[in-house]
Amino acid sequence: MDAATAGTDLEHVLLSREQVATRVAELAADLDRDYADKDVLLVGVLKGAVMVMADLSRAMSIPLSMDFMAVSSYGSGTKSSGVVRILKDLDTDISGRHVVVVEDIIDSGLTLSWLLANLSSRGPASVKVCALLRKPEAAKVEVDVEYVGYDIPNEFVVGYGLDFADKYRNLDCVATLAPHVYS
Ligand code: 5GP
Ligand code: MG
Ligand code: MG
Repeated sequence: MDAATAGTDLEHVLLSREQVATRVAELAADLDRDYADKDVLLVGVLKGAVMVMADLSRAMSIPLSMDFMAVSSYGSGTKSSGVVRILKDLDTDISGRHVVVVEDIIDSGLTLSWLLANLSSRGPASVKVCALLRKPEAAKVEVDVEYVGYDIPNEFVVGYGLDFADKYRNLDCVATLAPHVYS
């Protein structure tokens, strides 16, 4: 779905389809360079990271493996609590592996911080993070994110994997929603 089709549901487009594609290709080139001599495992965090995973991995030239995890943050409403439950674990034993966690967005950083501690306890050779989006103003914990697509303002966004009530994930750009959609 493009922004024109979504129409008045959107307030404004932060990142066009082209801007996303350009930056994803650059991140892919960075990963190609940094993992040229390593056996890399991309770990996508469902469901938000599916678009980044699909486009990033296809834009990469080195051989790689993929796995997925699904996690849910306990707590009320839309705010992350930092207490995380694994809904789907990896199929892969990551001991001794070079892992790159692929995320849609880093907001408070609480989910990622928990995930990194969890993955690190499994004895990987390395764990790095690649996130398409980051909201620096929303950070509650410091997390090292080596590969960031775009830093964005502290606004709720949808599209390119990101949802509101499980909708708009298939929007091809990143946008804020019009107020009438929430109410
Ligand atoms: P954190 O634990 O960093 O606060 O939140 C991580 C998760 O919250 C993200 O992976 C994403 O699923 C969701 N999230 C955070 N900010 C946004 C946003 O602006 N839009 C949407 N749709 N989801 C968000
Ligand atoms: Mg996510
Ligand atoms: Mg969501």
